[in-house]
Amino acid sequence: MARTHPMSNRQILVVEDERPIREMVAFGLRRAGFDVVEAEDTREARARIADRRPDLVLVDWMLPDMSGLELTRALKKDKDMREVPVIMLTARAEEHDKVSGLEGGADDYVTKPFSPRELLARINAVLRRSHAAARDEVVSAGGLTLDSAGHRVMVGEATVPLGPTEYRLLSFFMTHPERVYSRGQLLDRVWGGNVYVEERTVDVHIRRLRKALEGFDCDRFVQTVRGAGYRFSTRVE
Ligand code: CA
Repeated sequence: MARTHPMSNRQILVVEDERPIREMVAFGLRRAGFDVVEAEDTREARARIADRRPDLVLVDWMLPDMSGLELTRALKKDKDMREVPVIMLTARAEEHDKVSGLEGGADDYVTKPFSPRELLARINAVLRRSHAAARDEVVSAGGLTLDSAGHRVMVGEATVPLGPTEYRLLSFFMTHPERVYSRGQLLDRVWGGNVYVEERTVDVHIRRLRKALEGFDCDRFVQTVRGAGYRFSTRVE
């Protein structure tokens, strides 16, 4: 899991059928020091992934053979690719499209037309987050400290008493903050896509997690977003 490529050698797979856009994006990323691999449809993307697992996938929503959303869903259910961040590119700016993109497992979303600088900023932010999670670095939020190496969450000197599922859930939330995840998406990302678990199971574990966090006054960070799912946020609503 710990990949040791320096930041500059990180490989980004760009999946976009419109050649001028793909080349423009690839050019900007290469200039920023990334290793770029291009694919014009999801089939080619799969072949490139089989050659070498990329560090991040940029995928356009509209592709000729399968939608970028379907590809994203498939990648997030693949145990070798699940942790690889995906950023969706799209001309669609409507809120419900954005939500379905994120529910499909995308880690971020960039609407066309975008500036190369904006895209680069999003890529770097997403890579920093996934890098911290993969390298077992300590992540802190709102007084909680996730110690991945020690497999525990601390508040000051105290360890938050968590069951294994609650630990995985909180660890996922802390490394993916400020983003709404549907129950289905949490099942895919925290429980693993191959396991059959009912969606209400998520609610049960969310309740247990909140209960464990209550004593530390941190339960408010686990927020219910009506009609959408759950979000971990230390910002005041
Ligand atoms: Ca396209």
